[in-house]
Amino acid sequence: MSIEACRNVTILGSTGSIGTQGLDIVARAPSRFSLRWITCNSRWQDLVEQAKRYKPYGVALREELAWRMFREAFPTFSGPVLCGDEGICEAAADTDNDVVLSAMVGFSGVQPTMAAIRAGHVIGLANKESLVSAGAVLVPAASQHGATLIAVDSEHSAILQCLVGERAEDVSKLIITASGGPFRSLSSVEMETVTPAMALKHPNWTMGAKITIDSATLMNKGFEVIEARWLFDLPGEKIDVVIHPQSIVHSMVEFVDGSVKAQMGLPTMLVPIQYALTYPNRMPLTLPRLDLASVKELTFEAPDLDRFPCLRMAYNALEVGGSAGAVINAANEVAVASFLAGELSYLGIARTIEWTLDYIEHVSHPSLDDVVSIDAESRRRASEYIIGTQWKN
Ligand code: MG
Repeated sequence: MSIEACRNVTILGSTGSIGTQGLDIVARAPSRFSLRWITCNSRWQDLVEQAKRYKPYGVALREELAWRMFREAFPTFSGPVLCGDEGICEAAADTDNDVVLSAMVGFSGVQPTMAAIRAGHVIGLANKESLVSAGAVLVPAASQHGATLIAVDSEHSAILQCLVGERAEDVSKLIITASGGPFRSLSSVEMETVTPAMALKHPNWTMGAKITIDSATLMNKGFEVIEARWLFDLPGEKIDVVIHPQSIVHSMVEFVDGSVKAQMGLPTMLVPIQYALTYPNRMPLTLPRLDLASVKELTFEAPDLDRFPCLRMAYNALEVGGSAGAVINAANEVAVASFLAGELSYLGIARTIEWTLDYIEHVSHPSLDDVVSIDAESRRRASEYIIGTQWKN
């Protein structure tokens, strides 16, 4: 496709943080992008507003009640209004899509991402949980169906940008940066009293609630290590994490000759989202520019795996492989939701995941159906653990 061609963009999860920023990118360049489908889980009011403002070809809503409400609130919408997982998968697989931005939160993104893969689309993948749970299924399917997975996560976009023009065999290490989150310098004892409000205040990034909590526990970074393994085909021992509180260096690649390339910029998701939609080309973007003289200091330190056990568990899950990623992802989703609801302590998040991992039987080569049932079983067990320990949380 030539650089000037207009691309039909479909955004799965358009009412979320990445989704709304994706709409912003699409709306900034009407000659370059045309909005095909937007989809949401339950936030129908937001979807009505988006449909009126951005005029997509069609919409899909996962929850039936939300679907009914959309149709009632916007009866004159001219395109198709689809419902349920099937509806979202149909939007993802539409043959007129040029790029699908997969920006749903959590495991709910797996099936729609698979639908886009089976259709052989270019997919901007912001839904890291789908790779954590089902990377072993999705990545081979992508090569089988000629689909392209392009990183949207700022770290993975940085690595992708560092890899342009390089040969895979010349890469010796990926170095993923982490801001360290709001509790970087808290002791384990101080972490006992962390509340959802404290965890939701991220120092550098404005994101959805789930990923903000994942950033505080460093599980987000652990998931990014697993995501990098699938996107760039390197084993865990060649993927390092370094804490970099300023969030200016978005990640780095070390090469066999010891040279290290870094990609830098102000912390905004607009750049990686746009890069995924225009890859392998770039397009002008009017945003504040990085001024290193005013940043003054870039610092780095090693992560503490004792205070942040979620990162260690993610490395272990990567080494064990098979169903381990699906289990930690499911247990984490349940634990984070319980923490946000005030039903589980902050430190209980890691304990819930550890317990669930011990409990669920390991499957070495899970199919997509296996992953779906392992996910469901892990959620059940994690919920049981949380209910069973509530007296001490
Ligand atoms: Mg990230």
